[in-house]
Amino acid sequence: MPHTSPPLPDFTRWPSFPFEGEFRVKKLDDPVAVEPPRKGEGTSECLSCSAPDEAYIWVSERWRVRAMDRPTGLPMVLILESRSHLDLGDLPNLLAAELGVMTVRLERAIRSLDGVARVHVNRWGDGAAHLHLWFLARPYGQLQLRGTFLPLWDTILPPIPEEKWRENLALVAAWLAEFGGRPLAEPPRIQWQAPSSLDQLTPEGGVTGDVPSGPDAADAVEPGDPAGGDGAARPDDPGTR
Ligand SMILES: [Zn+2]
Repeated sequence: MPHTSPPLPDFTRWPSFPFEGEFRVKKLDDPVAVEPPRKGEGTSECLSCSAPDEAYIWVSERWRVRAMDRPTGLPMVLILESRSHLDLGDLPNLLAAELGVMTVRLERAIRSLDGVARVHVNRWGDGAAHLHLWFLARPYGQLQLRGTFLPLWDTILPPIPEEKWRENLALVAAWLAEFGGRPLAEPPRIQWQAPSSLDQLTPEGGVTGDVPSGPDAADAVEPGDPAGGDGAARPDDPGTR
């Protein structure tokens, strides 16, 4: 029997829907009887537990914040993780209360960045068992990016400049550190002058290795797995986040 697609939902005609053209609704696969383990479940390795603090932009005794491994289309995308290997529903009261405080604090830190209108906070957890919340910043004035399609736009839009991204990471890390913990993201060092040849480099000038993509800065924010331990590298599918 041929598959007949149900009618397209209204949201495909919303201004925020990132695609246009001819569409049809996919046929759903049959449900599986037993779901496969997520990352960090059963014998599957937990990428968050095995990641060193240096893979994060800020760490504290019980929480860590990580970035993607490179700039993406939105001004800022961050992941808040508990240090303990727990999922949302497993949090004891202390951590549950702190999650609220950390969520508000991180939202505020990201919203304080230039050009950020709103910060969307999401928790999927279909890819990895270790608790991780996504924070996605919507650029100010970009009304078409409002709402649930923001994660899709993040992968569609051209990446923001790397220097700006590193500067934003350092600002957020410093903001969080005002309340405790340890900032690990450093701001890009200013390149005072662009040398026309290597001969012009001086130790004091701080040009060598001080470009924003220098190894120091890169190490400070290299999260290893960009999906925050989901195993779904820069997720194509929010369902696997
Ligand atoms: Zn874990």
